[in-house]
Amino acid sequence: TEACLTAIDASGKLNAFVHHTPDMARGMAKAADQRIKAGDAAPMTGIPVGIKDVFCVKGVPSQAASRILDGFRPEYESTVTQNLWNAGAVMLGKLNQDEFAMGSANENSVYGPAINPWKAADGRDLTPGGSSGGSAAAVAADLCLAATGTDTGGSIRQPAAFTGTVGLKPSYGRVSRWGVIAYASSLDQAGPMTKTVRDAAIMLGAMASVDPQDSTSADKPVPDYESLLTGDIRGKKIGIPREYRIDGLPEEIAALWQKGADMLRDAGAEIVDISLPHTKYALPAYYVIAPAEASSNLARYDGVRYGRRAKLGQGDGIVEMYEKTRAEGFGPEVQRRVMIGTYVLSAGFYDAYYNRARKVRTLIKRDFECAFADGVDAILAPTTPSAAFALGASDNADPVQMYLNDVFTVTLNLVGLPGISVPVGQDKNGLPLGLQLFGRPFDEGNLLNQALVLE
Ligand code: GLN
Repeated sequence: TEACLTAIDASGKLNAFVHHTPDMARGMAKAADQRIKAGDAAPMTGIPVGIKDVFCVKGVPSQAASRILDGFRPEYESTVTQNLWNAGAVMLGKLNQDEFAMGSANENSVYGPAINPWKAADGRDLTPGGSSGGSAAAVAADLCLAATGTDTGGSIRQPAAFTGTVGLKPSYGRVSRWGVIAYASSLDQAGPMTKTVRDAAIMLGAMASVDPQDSTSADKPVPDYESLLTGDIRGKKIGIPREYRIDGLPEEIAALWQKGADMLRDAGAEIVDISLPHTKYALPAYYVIAPAEASSNLARYDGVRYGRRAKLGQGDGIVEMYEKTRAEGFGPEVQRRVMIGTYVLSAGFYDAYYNRARKVRTLIKRDFECAFADGVDAILAPTTPSAAFALGASDNADPVQMYLNDVFTVTLNLVGLPGISVPVGQDKNGLPLGLQLFGRPFDEGNLLNQALVLE
């Protein structure tokens, strides 16, 4: 804990930690020491972790990197963080992210961008990815041993790939969403961001629980994931989805993908070609459903219930209060999503956009059901179409360019399956590249075991 606190103090440039809680950390580390002495240690006892700003931690600023939650200190604890503290983990502070987890570069943050500890060949600063950019940067730069992230459309896996770390998005319902500031409730899922697959197994076990406070929490016991890590994947069938071989896929990503398939084959798995025919509709469906749910979730930020209220002028009424508060409190990307979301949900367009996207979601789900029914145990794909890119890409006038980064990740959230990104190679400049494995529902144990082979 002391080593991490020192490293955090020296790491200001990375802008990964946005709220520091050293007193809390020292108190928790002391309690962990006592627990260890008493012979009562749990797997994470004494392990210093960072927490993405989107998780409510009692008494600690928790504002999902938004101005609208300035000054908000939750009165209660998210289930995930409570589970981590119960397991003995030590809280180092809150981590940078995109505002309300909307983004792929951590540039939509009220704190400014987090910075990737890896540098471009010409020395330029790179994005650590988003939205869990602070979590990924902190783990990669050894500011913490592990961090929490959330993944609505790739926000754990993509930053993991961009920083050479491991990121796991659990099955929808495996980890409680209670106390996690909502982006798109049918897609959001919290998970671990770690240095190794084994750490991800340990941390997932600590984060996951059956939670009566989240109606979508799955009523399934949490296995001891670490004990399932045998490295034996003989006889497993791994699918290579041909639709992920998109036009313009860079040669180095194709080569990385092949390398991953070879590693799994050498370990005794059978590699098969599969088809997920509706893949190309996933990105457009996601960018209808996610903003629709976001526009509804974000309606609660009205200047009354939480955080910040705009200064009002003489004669301003309640409508002006809402308008001014939301105009000042939400950044441009969040405002864009609220507009898209309310548009696709509005009476005249609901069927054409929102309902259509929901139907597409069902078709995509069936693609996976068919693949698994054919005996495939897991699916291997690239995590991202490129290595980490330079900061400043969000300044381009076309936000759709940024959305295209999520082409390989959003599908998994639409279908609620678990996925893990593992660093498998480098691009020509030595920057990390990741591959992801998708698993059967609630099959995180096998998924982690297969991921171990890719490490
Ligand atoms: N980049 C995607 C988005 O902006 C995914 C974000 C996430 O997973 N939270 O919506």
